[in-house]
Amino acid sequence: MTQKLIFIGPQGSGKGTQAKILAEKLSIPHISTGDLLREAKGELKEELDNYMNEGKLVPDKLIIKILKQRIEKPDTDNGFILDGFPRNTAQAKLLEEITKIDNVIEITLSDEEAIKRLSGRVNCENCNANYNELTAPKPKQKGICDKCNGDLIKRNDDTKEAVKKRLEIYKQETQPVLEIYDNLLITINGEQTIQKIATEILERLNIR
Ligand code: AMP
Repeated sequence: MTQKLIFIGPQGSGKGTQAKILAEKLSIPHISTGDLLREAKGELKEELDNYMNEGKLVPDKLIIKILKQRIEKPDTDNGFILDGFPRNTAQAKLLEEITKIDNVIEITLSDEEAIKRLSGRVNCENCNANYNELTAPKPKQKGICDKCNGDLIKRNDDTKEAVKKRLEIYKQETQPVLEIYDNLLITINGEQTIQKIATEILERLNIR
């Protein structure tokens, strides 16, 4: 059975962390459009970085092209988990033209907690593992990745201004997407431990 899943939630909700855990469990790829954009090279790089550093969305036409190329790769034959896509109703409609989604998992979080979590968020420069120096998972040694000893760095768009902008866009543009997926939607409280959320996701998807 294929599993084509979408994870939706505000910045800091832990959707990336949960998407990675579930992708590993199901042996399907975790596709984060934010990661695809950060990894982009070539002539578009500067333009993409400008949108991202200000916390704005990159244009739909560009992101759908990047996403389509990614989900056409053979590793998606058994499904995939989309993290960070769709970000607005136009993207959701474009996605419908490419593929059929099985379930949508929404992870909820208050603004207050989102801001707190994002100010502590760091990523490994080398293997991209996520940590949080204020909440969890904390790295064993400050600034160093537990898995590969790489340096932990802050994202350029985790500044106070960009975070505020991203949360605003989430409410105005991304939340309306949930209505489109009304009958596929599973909503989970993001203010629980990583383990508890991961277990709840498996239960709600009937995965053992
Ligand atoms: P994320 O890693 O999901 O927080 O995304 C980081 C940034 O990448 C966002 O603030 C946007 O600038 C851009 N981005 C990621 N996914 C999308 C998308 N589906 N549509 C437009 N912009 C996106």
